[in-house]
Amino acid sequence: MIVAIDGPAGAGKSTVARAVAQTLSFTYLDTGAMYRCVALARIRDADCDLDSLKIELDDAITLNGEDVSDAIRTPEVTELASEVAAEASVRAAMATRQAALLAEGDWVAEGRDIGTVIAPHAELKIFLTADPQERARRRAEQTGRDLSEILAEQQDRDRRDGERSLSPLVAAGDAVQLDTTTLSADEVITQIAELANAAINGGGPQ
Ligand code: C5P
Repeated sequence: MIVAIDGPAGAGKSTVARAVAQTLSFTYLDTGAMYRCVALARIRDADCDLDSLKIELDDAITLNGEDVSDAIRTPEVTELASEVAAEASVRAAMATRQAALLAEGDWVAEGRDIGTVIAPHAELKIFLTADPQERARRRAEQTGRDLSEILAEQQDRDRRDGERSLSPLVAAGDAVQLDTTTLSADEVITQIAELANAAINGGGPQ
């Protein structure tokens, strides 16, 4: 079974997807981390070969054997990740890897195009949103960085992710849309876990 959780930065995807996966005993897949690894590899070597990048997403995120869990979260990598994610060759390579992972087992997969492109057959699709100010406030709280800087970067990233021609950030027609602006993480996790349990017990797509 696949639970797809898509949405813009700061809508709460990572916190929620991780917790829902734990609640359901599913495996968590953070597809954004893959694009971040590609961006980091590019910063280190502009000509790096995509196919030979070894990206492992376990408790730690490793790139060619090195723990890059923190290195992929810098503002520089964040910015470049949304640029490389618009490249056809990068998307194709990541899509192949993601589809291979999702082919077996039970997953909560988080990203921008899981419900639309990577797993359109997912049994449950969630599209998480939140007011842009609130998304930026959450990021500022997490990182300790300046709110107005984060808001400006977020606007750039939203625009790039939403307007690109390949797999733009859009909700799948059959996604459940959840606005998390005024909800706590626990409330969102509970709602999604309930929907997932209904899908498991009901057996069919939502
Ligand atoms: O989710 P996260 O912020 O870590 O993603 C980093 C970047 O990777 C996003 O801004 C987006 O451009 C890209 N991304 C994507 N498709 C996904 C996941 C992430 O294009 N499925």
